[in-house]
Amino acid sequence: MHASEAWLQSILRVAPVGIGVTRNRVVLEVNDTLCRLTGYPREDLIGRNARLLYFSDEDYEWVGREKYRQIAERGTGTVEVRWRRRDGAAIVVILSSTLLDAANPAQGITFTALDITERKQAEERLRLSEARYRAIVEGQTDLVCRCLPDGTLTFVNPAYCRYFGSSPDKLLGANFASLIPETDRADAMARVLGRDTAHPLDSQEHPVVRADGELRWVQWRNQTILDTTNGLMEIQSVGRDVTEQRAMEAELRRLATTDPLTGAFNRRHLLTVLESEIERARRHGRSLALILFDLDHFKQINDTRGHDQGDRVLQAVAAQVRGRLRRSDVFTRWGGEEFLILAPETTGADAVALAETLRAALRELPGSDGGPVTASFGVAAYRPKETLDRWLKRVDERMYASKRQGRDRVSGDESGVDASP
Ligand code: GH3
Ligand code: MG
Ligand code: MG
Repeated sequence: MHASEAWLQSILRVAPVGIGVTRNRVVLEVNDTLCRLTGYPREDLIGRNARLLYFSDEDYEWVGREKYRQIAERGTGTVEVRWRRRDGAAIVVILSSTLLDAANPAQGITFTALDITERKQAEERLRLSEARYRAIVEGQTDLVCRCLPDGTLTFVNPAYCRYFGSSPDKLLGANFASLIPETDRADAMARVLGRDTAHPLDSQEHPVVRADGELRWVQWRNQTILDTTNGLMEIQSVGRDVTEQRAMEAELRRLATTDPLTGAFNRRHLLTVLESEIERARRHGRSLALILFDLDHFKQINDTRGHDQGDRVLQAVAAQVRGRLRRSDVFTRWGGEEFLILAPETTGADAVALAETLRAALRELPGSDGGPVTASFGVAAYRPKETLDRWLKRVDERMYASKRQGRDRVSGDESGVDASP
């Protein structure tokens, strides 16, 4: 009996948890760990009511009720509760209790107290930071997703699901390629999945298809997520819809480059295109031609039918011409009733033929005094090393030659044939 008591005492001393005995909630025995845990010397605890250890009356009373209820039910009771250290600091402990003598509850109970304050604080910090990040990501109107290096989606936020008209269980595990129209798929995937560790950030725009089949444009910012050995683990993307923005930009570009009356390109746009086309023609020795035409006696049309009707004739002229050009031809309103066409990959002879076609087409339109609309054409193929000014001057001269020779005709380069190599 004596030996076993010494044995018990030594266990009490070395136990890493606080251990004590209470009877009628009065402390009968405590170990050193419990003293260290609570900051009280042994003599301050022995004989005192256990209330001293609790943070509040409510906590003390609740533990009394709850612990004894559990003990009555299954012999042991475990609760998590706040204690107050001697220095006033609150700590959180897990209290586990059992009857000292199962046959005689009046003998009192033994309890262990495990300090989980730090664990609680760490958990709380983690919960808060997680909650904060979750709120940022989930409350976003931006689309947030993550995918594996092969495009398999591993995370999608609510905005992403709403946007695509889908749900996390349909999207997670699917490949984001299925959200991109087939024509753009290969390019878009290569751009996202081609991220490397040297270029962790990238942005791109590509079209997407939503569940209802609607085609939209999304701008993405992609970021590589690396593992500890700098291997590509995941790609995180944040996207926003830029469909309306793109449409507006396209409309602004259109307004800035076209003539509002006829819809033909304006002079400024042609001058920009001319620079790059001349460069291309020079470098690759490709043929390039200009066709300039000025409506004949247009003042008469205005005078006989009125300025508004004159405007309508200009629109009709533009429509007639446009319908007979190739996509690569740049049709420009060069001045009031003067139009200039830049025709890439076109020799002087081909340009003369095209000008003849246009001349004939214009004659289909009603001009003034029951006569047709006619125009005088000048054609000039680009000559190697020629400056833009020189080339424009030549085509202007050809057009005026047509005027001089009686209008409603086409004048090509001096010889009337292609002078380019
Ligand atoms: P020509 O055969 O020598 O070219 O005779 P023309 O009458 O066409 O020559 P001119 O250059 O003297 O006159 C061009 C006219 O085109 C003058 C101008 O009032 C008219 N014009 C220019 N821009 C517009 C426009 O936007 N709308 C209308 N209705 N008329 C325009
Ligand atoms: Mg004219
Ligand atoms: Mg004119």
